Amino acid sequence: MLSCAEARDLASELIDGELGLEETAAVQAHVAGCLTCPNLYRALLAVTGALRKARFGAQEN
Ligand SMILES: [Zn+2]
Repeated sequence: MLSCAEARDLASELIDGELGLEETAAVQAHVAGCLTCPNLYRALLAVTGALRKARFGAQEN
């Protein structure tokens, strides 16, 4: 199993689309079984989603 620190490092790479299937599965398994990581993971997703929207918005203008 991954430690929380490892899972968080990998989660940011996962969101960037840089992880393979096995690493993605390992991160998701950790998040599913961890008390603290789901909140961090959602926060990371929200921040990344907001950044992507901002970038796409900039491209449209
Ligand atoms: Zn954790």
